[in-house]
Order: sequence, then C-alpha cells, then structure tokens
Amino acid sequence: IYILGIESSCDDTSAAVLRNGVLLSNVTASQDVHKAYGGVVPELASRAHQQNIVPVVDQALKRAGIVKEQLAAVAFTRGPGLMGSLLVGVSFAKGFARSLGIPLIDVNHLQGHVMAHFIKETDDDTSNPPLPFICLLVSGGNSQIVKVNKYNDMEVLGQTIDDAAGEAIDKCSKVMGLGYPGGPIIDKLARQGNPKAYKFSEPHIPGLDYSFSGLKTSFLYNLREWVAEDPDFIEKNKNDIAASLEFTIVDILMKKLKLAVKQTGIKHVAVAGGVSANNGLRNAFHDYARRYGWTVYIPKFSYTTDNAAMIGIVGYHKYLDGDFCSIDMPAFSKVTFN
Ligand code: ATP
Ligand code: FE
Repeated sequence: IYILGIESSCDDTSAAVLRNGVLLSNVTASQDVHKAYGGVVPELASRAHQQNIVPVVDQALKRAGIVKEQLAAVAFTRGPGLMGSLLVGVSFAKGFARSLGIPLIDVNHLQGHVMAHFIKETDDDTSNPPLPFICLLVSGGNSQIVKVNKYNDMEVLGQTIDDAAGEAIDKCSKVMGLGYPGGPIIDKLARQGNPKAYKFSEPHIPGLDYSFSGLKTSFLYNLREWVAEDPDFIEKNKNDIAASLEFTIVDILMKKLKLAVKQTGIKHVAVAGGVSANNGLRNAFHDYARRYGWTVYIPKFSYTTDNAAMIGIVGYHKYLDGDFCSIDMPAFSKVTFN
C-alpha cells in the first residue's frame, strides 16, 4: 500500500511516500523568504506553497520510484496551522486524489508530530514506543504533555497557558539580534556556553501545565539591564546567554514531564516537535532515562520539524482502519488534538 503524505501547515512544503508504513521518500521545500521578517509571513507562506507543491510531490514520487497511479490514498494535514498555508495542501490533495479516484485521508498535524515515532525506515524496524506512552510535544505553536493511547487517541495531560517553548526560544533569540528561526541558532551557541552563567525566572504553575511568557519577560528585562551597562554585552556573552536560556527551558519542560510520569506510572517517554531537535533537551532525556529508569524515544532530526513523513504514517494507520474523509472536509486553524 503506497500512501502519499502532504504537509503545508506553516512554512514548509513537504511530500512523502510510504509503502506499508515504511518511508520511501520525504521531500521538503523550506521557505527562506521569512528570514528577512524575523517570522513567518502568512501571505508569503501560502504563495510559496503554491509554487512548491507540484515540484515537491513530483520529487517525492520520483525518489520513491513509483508513479502516481500506484498510490492507494492521499493523506494531508487538515490543521491546525495557518489557514492560507493549509488551503494549498488541502486543495492539492483533494484534486490529486479525485483525479486518481483514490481515497482522501485528513490528518491532524499534532497527531502527526507524535506519530513520527512510528515511521519505519525498514520493514523490520520496531523502534517505536509501546502503547500507551507519554509524549512531550514541543513545537513552534505547542507545548503539551500527551498520553498516547492509540494513534488517534491522545489525551492532553498538560499544556502551555501562554507561549509555546519554540515560540519563547525564537522570541528570545530575536531580542538577542540573532536570526530566525532562533531554535537552531540558540542550540549551536549553547553548546559552547555555561548553562549556569545566568538565572532566568521559572514559572510556578500548578499541575502539568506550562508557561513561558514570564521567562520571556525576565529574559528581556535582564538583557536590557546588561546592555545598558555594556552595549557589547550580548556579543561578548552570547554563548553563556544561549546556554542559560536553553538550560532554563529544558528544566521547565523536564520537571513537569517527571510529574506526568509519576502521576501516570508510564515510564515510556517520547519527545516530538521542532524543539525536540534541541541537543540540550535530548541530553536531558538520556539523563532522565539513566536517573529514573525511563525508556526514552527520541526522533531522528528529520522527523522533528514539519515533514510529510509524519502525515503519511498517520495516513497509513487510518487507511488500515478505513478511516477516509469526504472531498468537502474543510481545513481548520485552531489547535485541537482530535
Ligand atoms: P506546530 O507544530 O505547533 O503547529 P510548527 O509546525 O511551526 O508549530 P515545528 O516545525 O514543529 O513547529 O517546530 C518549529 C520550532 O522548533 C521553532 O520554534 C524552532 O525554533 C524550534 N526548533 C527547531 N530546531 C531547534 C533546536 N535545535 N533547538 C531548539 N528549538 C528548535
Ligand atoms: Fe509542526
């Protein structure tokens, strides 16, 4: 069974082909136009998707070594995301599936991030976590602790009440005058810095919820003070600042995750979403595995940020369940898991 996955929820146009859940190709066109603006410009994103979608799908089929007539179904990201971006992928998927006379499968983007752990690279790949497991989903728009019962049954145990972790990193890096997106830049600088050099405020939120807006404010105020005393402060200390910021964010994330493990008794713990590319967070997972006896699941870098392979794998499981959608299925922008 060949499934085509299509992802266009934000600023990456991506297409992937899977054969029986095994990934054959995963092609992504990233959009550089947003760099100049320090963030994703929705109108520019949808225009770029429009240009990229056909060549990206062509490439994905070519690299998979198949022709479109071999496809069994087309899976697409329905939401959440930017409406103008989603519409390009959704409309393309509908037209493509209709022209081939094959079923359409709508996929929730967040379920996709989590299900990246089920992408197989070979037929005998069994590296996926056992159900149920706990997943920390940390991306540009979300920070959630999810209990995964099944590929389409995910309970949100806790989530951010304001900013997402990725959003906070990106904003702090913007304040430092670094490029966009800030996540990978902070990650790189942090590796050469001292994580204990500076202290930024940590939230006191009850339960399993997160908050990152206080940290962002504390970061901004500290930076302002230091720069007022020494205009070159950031340039001189950027490694230490980045390392301390990363340390604080990872600490906030891991503390609540530890509480979730304690409350549920589930010690199979995964991480997903763009921020799971972060080396500090990855190291913390390995550290917690050693200290607390967790079994941890860390995705390959290519499955952390937005990609169509994760949409294709959800599509494959829905295909096996015969869970198709009709041609009038609308896109949605609001965050929801189901
Ligand atoms: P959502 O999935 O919530 O709709 P999104 O699709 O925009 O949001 P992703 O593509 O999953 O988000 O992740 C993008 C985020 O990941 C950005 O905030 C980016 O800075 C962050 N990120 C990417 N690489 C790293 C890294 N190495 N360290 C920290 N953050 C990173
Ligand atoms: Fe995403």
